[in-house]
Amino acid sequence: MDQTPEQIQSNFADIKPALTDDHAVVEANRCLYCYDAPCAVACPTHIDIPEFIRRIGTGNVKGAAETILDSNILGASCARVCPTEVLCEGSCVYLDLDAPAIDIGRLQRYATDHVMDKDIKVFDAPKDKSLGKVAIVGGGPAGIACAAELGRLGIRAVIYEGKAELGGLNRYGIAPYKLTNEETQAEIKYLKEMTGFEAKTGQRVGRDISFQELEAEYDFIFLGVGVSSSRMLKIEGEDKTGVIGATEWIEELRNKPLHETKVGPKVIVVGAGNTAIDAATEAARLGAEEVTIVYRRGKDQMPAYEFEYELALKDKVRFQWLTQPVEVLGNGSVTGLKCRKMKLGEPDDSGRASPEPVPDSEFVIEANAVIKATGQVKHSLLEGIDGVELEWGLVKVNDEYATTNPKYYAGGDCINGGAEVVNAVYHAKLAAKSMHRILTKGGK
Ligand code: SF4
Repeated sequence: MDQTPEQIQSNFADIKPALTDDHAVVEANRCLYCYDAPCAVACPTHIDIPEFIRRIGTGNVKGAAETILDSNILGASCARVCPTEVLCEGSCVYLDLDAPAIDIGRLQRYATDHVMDKDIKVFDAPKDKSLGKVAIVGGGPAGIACAAELGRLGIRAVIYEGKAELGGLNRYGIAPYKLTNEETQAEIKYLKEMTGFEAKTGQRVGRDISFQELEAEYDFIFLGVGVSSSRMLKIEGEDKTGVIGATEWIEELRNKPLHETKVGPKVIVVGAGNTAIDAATEAARLGAEEVTIVYRRGKDQMPAYEFEYELALKDKVRFQWLTQPVEVLGNGSVTGLKCRKMKLGEPDDSGRASPEPVPDSEFVIEANAVIKATGQVKHSLLEGIDGVELEWGLVKVNDEYATTNPKYYAGGDCINGGAEVVNAVYHAKLAAKSMHRILTKGGK
C-alpha cells in the first residue's frame, strides 16, 4: 500500500496523547485517594499515586512531578511505556465498580511533561560530587536511572555507552507511537542537568576501555548493559535477504525518518511477545498489506499482554497460532516461510503446555520479510568479569542489586532477561542507595 510520508507519520501518532489542563484536573478529581492504594502497590517503584494525583487536582503540578520522580526518576518515559493497563491502572478500584480506571499514566505524563517543558527542577542535587565515583556501563533506562539517582546523592556517575546517543531501549527499541526520540532525549537532558551525571557516548567498555581500567578509576561499577541481538531461529534459509531480528529492525526504524523504512508487502513476525507485537504493528503502520504473527503455541500461552494483542488486531495483524517455522524459502531473498502445524502436549519446565509437531502438516505462507522476535541472546561482555557470577547468562544479584563481586552492581534486562523499563528503574534506585550507604560508611 503506497502511503505518503505524512500518512505514515500520522499512522505513528501518539497512541496515548497528552491531557489538556482541564482534562487533567477533572480526571484527577475522580480519584478516590484510596487508603493503602492498590495502584501504588502495583507500581514496581511504588510511586505514591494518590498523592501525586491529589497534587494535580489542587493545582500543584510541580509537587506532583516531585512525588513521581522521587520514586521513579524515569517517570516521564514510564508514563508512556509502562503497561499501566496491567500495573497501576489494572489495580484501580474503579474497575471493581465496572467504571473506567483513573488515567494514571496520562496524569503522570501531564505532571512530568509540565516540569520538563518549563525546565522546572524538582530536586536540588548537590553540585559537590565528592562522595565517590561510579562507572555506569550502558546508557539505557537502568544506567540512566542509576546515574541520576547517584547524582541526587552527591556521587559522581559517568555513563559509558557504545552507541552514539544515550537511551538504550527507550531510544532504539520502543515503538515510536509510544515514545519518540525527541521525548527520550528531552528526558535525558532534563535529568542530566538536574542531577549532574556525566556521559561518554561512543565509548564501548571492552573495546575502548577495559573493566580493569574502570575498576582502577571508580569506587563501583554498575552494569546496565541489557541484552544483546535477536535470537536465531536455527532453521534453513535464515541467512536470506529479508530475514531480520525484531530489535535490529526497530532500531533501524528509530534511526531514520519513518517513511524511509521499506517494508512488505507481506511480512511474517515469528514470536508472540510484546516485541513481536510492536514489530508487527509497526510493519502494518508502515504500509505492509499482510502482516502475520506465527507462534508455535496457542493464544492462551502468548507472552504478550492482552492490550498489546488488541492493538495488533486493530492494525489487522493476523495470528497463526500453533505454527512453527521450519524453513525460509526464496532464491537469495525471502519469498515465503515453510511452517508446520503444532498441537499442545504435556507442560514443559516453564509450566506451559509444550507444542508438538503434527505429522505431515507442512504448509507455506508467502512473505517478503521475516522478522524474528523470539527473544534476545545474553551479553557476552558479561562473561569475562572477574568474580561476577552469571546464572543462565544473567548477572546474579542480591536484594540490593550487588553482584557476587562487591565492586559491581547490576540492574535491568541483564539481570532479568528482559522486563519493563520500570523494573530497571527500581533496580537502579536500590543499587544507587546501597552504593551511597557504603560510601558514606553506613555499611550494608
Ligand atoms: Fe485513585 Fe484508583 Fe489509585 Fe484509588 S486505586 S487511589 S481511585 S487511582
